[in-house]
Amino acid sequence: MNKQVIVVGAGPGGLAAAMQLSTAGYQVKVLEKQPQIGGRTSKLTVGDYHFDLGPTFFMMPQILEEVFVRSGRNLHDYVDMQEVNPLYTLKFGEVSFSPSTDSEKTKEDIGRLFPGNEEGYERFLRIEGEKFDRVIALLKQPFTSIGDFFTKDMWRALPRLNAFDTVYKRLSKYFSDERLKWAFSFQAKYLGMSAWDCPGTFTILSFLEHRYGLFHPIGGVNQVCHAMAKVIKENGGDILTNTNVEQVLVNKGEAVGVQLDDGSVLRANDVIINADFGYAMTHLFDQKVLRKYKKERLKKKGLSLSTFMLYLGVDGELDLPHHMVLFANDYKQNVDDITKYGRISEDPSIYVHNPSRLDPTLAPEGKSSLYVLMPVPNLEAAINWEEQKPLIREQILERLEREPGLVDIRDRIEVEKIVSPLEWEKNYNVYRGATFNLSHTLDQMMYFRPHNKFEDVEHCFLVGGGTHPGSGLPTIFQSAIISADLLQQQYDLKDVVSFDEEVAAVKEHF
Ligand SMILES: Cc1cc2nc3c(=O)[nH]c(=O)nc-3n(C[C@H](O)[C@H](O)[C@H](O)COP(=O)(O)OP(=O)(O)OC[C@H]3O[C@@H](n4cnc5c(N)ncnc54)[C@H](O)[C@@H]3O)c2cc1C
Repeated sequence: MNKQVIVVGAGPGGLAAAMQLSTAGYQVKVLEKQPQIGGRTSKLTVGDYHFDLGPTFFMMPQILEEVFVRSGRNLHDYVDMQEVNPLYTLKFGEVSFSPSTDSEKTKEDIGRLFPGNEEGYERFLRIEGEKFDRVIALLKQPFTSIGDFFTKDMWRALPRLNAFDTVYKRLSKYFSDERLKWAFSFQAKYLGMSAWDCPGTFTILSFLEHRYGLFHPIGGVNQVCHAMAKVIKENGGDILTNTNVEQVLVNKGEAVGVQLDDGSVLRANDVIINADFGYAMTHLFDQKVLRKYKKERLKKKGLSLSTFMLYLGVDGELDLPHHMVLFANDYKQNVDDITKYGRISEDPSIYVHNPSRLDPTLAPEGKSSLYVLMPVPNLEAAINWEEQKPLIREQILERLEREPGLVDIRDRIEVEKIVSPLEWEKNYNVYRGATFNLSHTLDQMMYFRPHNKFEDVEHCFLVGGGTHPGSGLPTIFQSAIISADLLQQQYDLKDVVSFDEEVAAVKEHF
């Protein structure tokens, strides 16, 4: 009989693992506590308006393409992926910078807006490109033992990792203008970190955007989750929503199934955990079976920032870019406020997403779904969120009203919804509301991040932002590739399905 696998959570990590294993012949059941799939990458519907709950930047589709190839499918048969160009509009007071993957055009814009920095941009693309080629190999390998540090790829990458530098310092080597340094370093926020603390390795994030571009799946980024769910069902796998796992059952150190909150028990040969790592360690295991990740030890781990979300259904079309970042006048102070001092900035930075111009499926005709994200401290900070919610909403609207296309925004709001760190924790099981999971400091990366093959329990695997290689969709998909391979490697080689040829064909293509 085929091996049975239970996946706890239908977020992008869980679905990507389930998709590969169901293709390889495993009998897969995905259990999701929410009424819908997707986790932080789900679709949010308020009235007649649809939004992406979380991710809106889709980068490096190559990795998801690989997941589909491993599942005998072509991603583009399932998702209509549109390239977003320019990448985004970054606003520094009166100065507006809209870089694109057209490097000649971006260089011209840099020369016009930040004269003298053009050569630095060329150097950035060259040096960071060489670094990326080496770092990518490390993101693809598992770090299950300390010996994994001594591979050929590791030694090749080591001199280029810049792990003891910070993102901000690396950018200072290329650019003299502060605003340009911010334009290439704000991506540290994708990991919920400050560019002044984030390891220099992660300059590859802005490099990736500039080299390979950003994409918008029609219907929103959530559609990649629906596409994966479709494949799982085509393969005969089950996805059960409204199904809350209470505990992972462990016998003699091995995961043997799960107990649901109605008391019923489902048995399996392996359990894959996609639920948020901190939440899983504090809620899904009997503390007695854990060694390395007991509650008390988890408290010592560094966590990412959180986000305050305002989803607005707006009457009329909006003359705004697809992605726009409104930088605080004193961006460093803003970042320090939320990362060091645990407070809301008086002058915050805000990200505004206006997908309706490119994608008519999200709002009724002639109207717009507007998504606003403000990075804020997680629940470790002493902030009364119930008190703060209306104040932050007001702060955001005041800032939006200063934009030419949004002067009358208040009068045009038809529906709205707020998600604060409180809701991230309560409704979405995100530990301490740290939306981007464990932070990506050196002591929490690679071998030092929770392993894909869970260290504390056998026949248990982790996928998602809390394990290697880290938070963010491309790395989450990569975690699913690594964990699905490790799970299969436990069994006889005859059970292992090799996708080497298919994957080589995809790589050839890029
Ligand atoms: C606001 C925001 C914006 C983001 N923007 C981007 C972006 O633009 N680009 C990008 O690449 N990344 C982005 N991310 C980061 C990351 O890609 C997403 O958070 C991603 O959804 C995380 O995926 P995951 O697989 O780790 O887990 P999740 O999406 O959190 O999925 C875990 C699932 O497990 C379920 N679950 C939890 N507990 C149980 C239980 N007991 N029983 C059953 N099910 C359970 C949850 O309900 C959830 O569905 C963003 C994140 C946030 C929050």
